[in-house]
Order: sequence, then structure tokens, then C-alpha cells
Amino acid sequence: MKICGLQKTTLLDFPGHVAATVFLNGCNFRCPFCHNGDLLSDSAPGLMTEGELLDFLKKRRGMLEGVCITGGEPTLHLELEALIRGIKELGYLVKLDTNGYRPAILKSLVEKGLLDYVAMDIKAGRARYGEVAGRPGLDIGLIGESADFLLHGTLDFEFRTTVAKELLTADDFEDIAVWLDGCPKYFLQNYTDSDQVLMPGLTGCTKDELLTFASILRPHMGTVELRGIDY
Ligand code: SF4
Repeated sequence: MKICGLQKTTLLDFPGHVAATVFLNGCNFRCPFCHNGDLLSDSAPGLMTEGELLDFLKKRRGMLEGVCITGGEPTLHLELEALIRGIKELGYLVKLDTNGYRPAILKSLVEKGLLDYVAMDIKAGRARYGEVAGRPGLDIGLIGESADFLLHGTLDFEFRTTVAKELLTADDFEDIAVWLDGCPKYFLQNYTDSDQVLMPGLTGCTKDELLTFASILRPHMGTVELRGIDY
């Protein structure tokens, strides 16, 4: 299996754990705010093989606690389960980042006890989901199926939304609040610009704008926190 990127140490990606982050290529969405445009294609260059990654992780036992698997969209890869099994056999906790569009894969991994934490993106309110995910006409039912599975399960998880000023409004958060009512942990991540972004020209929100969106979610969620902005 092709590993397209590796962050050898992160204190941020896996809440509460020192981790490494592994990047897989390919994605079924084209979010305008995506920073990983170079990873979206099936032909994105590989950095290392799965065997080389496992060798690296073997040497880091005792220094790292967990491995985050991100992308792109990891659930597109048939070999994902085998990769996770290899990582867990080394004693690591595994966190999966997903856009939630392949609920059957997510459920299968969770039910087999292969995941310790999931971070699922929520791109927008239901009415504008396809537009904000860069995939008009997507099946919002698949996103809902993944979200429901996490909301009614026992696995530790978070929902998170990247907020670009031009893409989301209070209406999106009014809908998310009702749709995902009961979510224990929700994060609003302020958009930050970069050369890699799919649609140049987007901007982040002010702290007050993010706090307004957070206040819409709070009555419905356990906690709502901001990332990418100082309180
Ligand atoms: S932000 Fe995530 S879901 Fe959206 S295009 Fe990028 S990798 Fe895919």
C-alpha cells in the first residue's frame, strides 16, 4: 500500500496522545477549502510502502502512543483494514479521520475493534452539503448514516467543521445543531489560507463570528470548542 505522507510526531492530531500521522491519497470529495490538493489524485506520489511505515513505527514504540490515519479519504482504500491491523499489532492506538461518505467501512472497522478514535468532518448544513463538499448531488443519507452510527455507539469521536467565511452561514449551524443533536464533542476549525488550497481566495472568520456559530451549536452539543483561533 502506498503511504503518501508521514508526520513523524504530532501533539495535536490525536487528542491526549503523542502520535504520528499517516497520509493516504485519493478522495471522493473536492472541498474548496481542502489543503491536501496534492493528495486527492489516485496517482499522487508515494513516500514509502506500508512495510517501511511499519518498520518506522516499530522503532518508535515507547515514544509514540497512537497513529492518525488521514488523507485524502482513507476509507477508499481496500487495504485500509490490513494497514490498521498491522499498526495495532505494534501496540498503537489508531485514530481515523474521515468524511463519513463510506459508512459501511467505518462501521466494519469500529465493529472489529480496530479504531480508538474517529474524527468525522461535517462540511455544512444538509441543504448545502454537496456544494460545500465540492460534490453537488451527493447522497446526504450516507453522511447521516455515519453520523448516526457514531452518535449512538460507544467509540470516542468528534465531529468537526472547517469554517471559511465565504462558505458557511448561521443557517448551516442551525441545521447542524438539530441534525447532530447530542454530539458529545464538536470542533469548529477556522479556515487558514495556504498555497495548496483547492479554491484560492477563501478567508477565515473572526473570533466573534466563530463564537456566534459556536453559540448556535452549544445547546445541542456536549462541548463546542474552537481550533485555529486564540480565545
Ligand atoms: S478536505 Fe478532506 S474530504 Fe475534502 S477534499 Fe480534502 S481530503 Fe477530501
